[in-house]
Amino acid sequence: MRPKALIWFRNDLRIQDNELLTKGLDQFDIYPLFIFDDRQFEKLPQLGFTKTGSFKAQFLIESVEELKSSLQSLGSDLIVRKGLPESIIPELAKELKAKKVFTSKEVTTDEVSIEDHLEDSLFKIGVDFETCWQSTLFHEEDVPWPIKQVPEVFTQFRKEAEKAVEVRPLFDTPKELNTIENIELGLIPSLTELGITEQKFDKRSVVKFKGGEKAAWKRLKDYFWEKDLLKKYKSTRNGLIGADYSSKLSPWLAIGAISAKSVYYEIKKYEAERTKNQSTYWLFFELLWRDFFKFMAKKHGHKIFLQHGLSELAIDQENNQAKFDLWRKGETQEPFIDANMKELAKSGFMSNRGRQIVASYLMHNLKVNWTWGAAWFEHALIDYDPASNWLNWAYIAGVGNDPRNGRVFNVESQQQRHDPKGEYINLWS
Ligand SMILES: Cc1cc2nc3c(=O)[nH]c(=O)nc-3n(C[C@H](O)[C@H](O)[C@H](O)COP(=O)(O)OP(=O)(O)OC[C@H]3O[C@@H](n4cnc5c(N)ncnc54)[C@H](O)[C@@H]3O)c2cc1C
Repeated sequence: MRPKALIWFRNDLRIQDNELLTKGLDQFDIYPLFIFDDRQFEKLPQLGFTKTGSFKAQFLIESVEELKSSLQSLGSDLIVRKGLPESIIPELAKELKAKKVFTSKEVTTDEVSIEDHLEDSLFKIGVDFETCWQSTLFHEEDVPWPIKQVPEVFTQFRKEAEKAVEVRPLFDTPKELNTIENIELGLIPSLTELGITEQKFDKRSVVKFKGGEKAAWKRLKDYFWEKDLLKKYKSTRNGLIGADYSSKLSPWLAIGAISAKSVYYEIKKYEAERTKNQSTYWLFFELLWRDFFKFMAKKHGHKIFLQHGLSELAIDQENNQAKFDLWRKGETQEPFIDANMKELAKSGFMSNRGRQIVASYLMHNLKVNWTWGAAWFEHALIDYDPASNWLNWAYIAGVGNDPRNGRVFNVESQQQRHDPKGEYINLWS
């Protein structure tokens, strides 16, 4: 009998291009595991809402269900638990007499601290722990700087990285996995069991997002190949209404149902078979923003969650609950802001342009603590990703990586430019 290893899935809920499913297959019988981390579903005491809202929680459940069925079709299965990974994993390792635990590396403080705790407690019971870096396009070992020297300005990061780094090839999907024996598999919890109240789908939503790898690839094929929209992405990406103005891949990328590398290689294929132009480059460019923020999150640790962010500046913003509630409910009486905030609350999504404008409005016009806004986005966004969310907010607040010290968006001129006929406002009024 071969020794056993646990494969702990986190934000990498896929079987394609997943390094975890290449690790140790020749030496170990692998036991795949996913844990619903209780902390993700807790209520934030000061603000009164849960960290994760209904849309993201439902999307996560669907993604885990699909991962389980994909693993079953390879002959394996998925062990599911709910609780704290750093307690559950050592217990499971003992129960299974596993020799090793593999997982993907994450970048933000809380996630990294779970890895550190886990490594410690596994070491004490003689179980090896190995992590792999796979959430970005550019591998941490390939970028031309140690983490402390990664450039603070995106343009410098992009130019230097683009010159120095090639995106690594995709990993093969295994054809077959070992069976899993003598372990209680556990059930995937429902929304109610996670303590979340279900929100119904609103038919005005840009896309009916469904969790899982198949839906991710379906969306990609639709946007790239069937509707042939990639070739005009650069000119449509600031849109507000409907499925077509941008890729809408963010929920699947955030949860790892598709890898950024897979999207990159599809862009290359599209360039070879259809068109190569500024738009095809621009989708890659946006994925580099995603990379940049992940490297920045790793570099700056807990600071990305603080009001003064990466700076030591004093900030003129207050904890005004009344103004914050009007903003988050879409009741500010500023129609363009309210439409965006209603779209977010009712669908779990908002365009990039909308996100910039409402964030600026909360912190610069209402002068409310921007970290509250970021916490609301964390709750409400179906594509919530800690590094992208908190560092985009910090950027606009001028306490992140903006060399121009923050962005103020004029609501009226933004509305005139992006919704001149008021169609978006009407849709979400
Ligand atoms: C205040 C604020 C908060 C945000 N919070 C999140 C978040 O929690 N999760 C998230 O994925 N994105 C976040 N973004 C970035 C961006 O708004 C979304 O990634 C994008 O709107 C998702 O739609 P799409 O997939 O159609 O994007 P596309 O325009 O099609 O872009 C393709 C992909 O590139 C990446 N990307 C694009 N723009 C950015 C950006 N500015 N920063 C980082 N990555 C980017 C995303 O992975 C996206 O899916 C935030 C932006 C702002 C201004």
